[in-house]
This record gives sequence, structure tokens and C-alpha cells, in this order.
Amino acid sequence: MSKRTKKVGNTGWMGARYGIRIRRRVLELDRSRSERAACPRCSTVTLSRISSGVFECGRCGTRYASGAYLFTPPGPVSRAEREPVAGKP
Ligand SMILES: [Zn+2]
Repeated sequence: MSKRTKKVGNTGWMGARYGIRIRRRVLELDRSRSERAACPRCSTVTLSRISSGVFECGRCGTRYASGAYLFTPPGPVSRAEREPVAGKP
């Protein structure tokens, strides 16, 4: 049996609609969505997507809020963010 969606993969349901660029972008996200990312806390590659923007570590169980489809590790926290200026409410 021949493979029906060799080129388009998971975006086969879209048919000829929406344009090839959009379909390729969707396909790219669709493929990388199930990939595991490294946990910023215990640095094991067990972070998986729970739902849109929610990622959970399979080892330490920490949940992170990140991008809707892909995990982007949080940047370093600056001193101004960590320590609020005294006198301000
Ligand atoms: Zn972890």
C-alpha cells in the first residue's frame, strides 16, 4: 500500500487549503511538539507538553509555563525583578 500523505504528513486533513507555507509551519510544530526538552531544574531531558503552554518534568514533576507548542527555557532573572524597590507599593 502506498503512503497517502508522504509529503504533507499530519497536515493531510487540510487538503489543498491554507497554502503550503502555513501547512509546513503547522507540520513543523506538530513534529516538534512531542519532543522532550531539558528540565531547567534537574537538567534531565524529560520535559513533556501537558497542554497548551504547560510543560511537566517526568523526573522532578515541576510544571512550567512556556510557549504554547515549544518549551523555551526562562531567561536569567535580573536583580530589579527579584528585589522590588523599597518605598514602592
Ligand atoms: Zn525536572
